[in-house]
This record gives sequence, C-alpha cells and structure tokens, in this order.
Amino acid sequence: MEDEEFGTTITGSRWFNAEPEIEEVEVKTFRQEWLCPKEDCSGKMVSNGYSWPMNPPGYHHTCTECQFTAAPRDGQRFPCEVTYPVKEEE
Ligand SMILES: [Zn+2]
Repeated sequence: MEDEEFGTTITGSRWFNAEPEIEEVEVKTFRQEWLCPKEDCSGKMVSNGYSWPMNPPGYHHTCTECQFTAAPRDGQRFPCEVTYPVKEEE
C-alpha cells in the first residue's frame, strides 16, 4: 500500500501531504554590487532592464558614472542580495 504522506509521483515530483518540518536558521544578508570595470571609475554597474535571451540570460548593466554598458556571462544581475547562515560562536 502506498504511504499517504508521500503521494503519487507525477512527472518526477509529487504533493507532500503532511506538514513540512521547519528549521529556522539565522542568516546575515549582504547586498552585492558590481563595481565598474573601467579604470579610474568609481561607479557601480546597475541592471538596466535589457537582456539577451540566452541560457544563462545576459542581463545588461550600465555604469552609474561613465555609462559603460555590459552583461556578465554567467547570468548574474546586480545589485543582488545574498544570505549566509550566521555561524554559531564557539
Ligand atoms: Zn564606470
């Protein structure tokens, strides 16, 4: 007999019919900003809304100071936020 908690598999996934067990982990959030790659420019590269529909997509960024425009190859988009688990004091 099929376990009710683990329902029928549909295209490689399924509904999970029980309450998920939750663990809360404290995290620290950082904002990542792309520094303009042009020499002697202190601007930041900011996503300008344009993209090339590649895989991964090319999100275009324009410098806030010199207007240099480019898209990083790995589909990154800036600014963005990253979170890391807060390490417990030892
Ligand atoms: Zn610049």
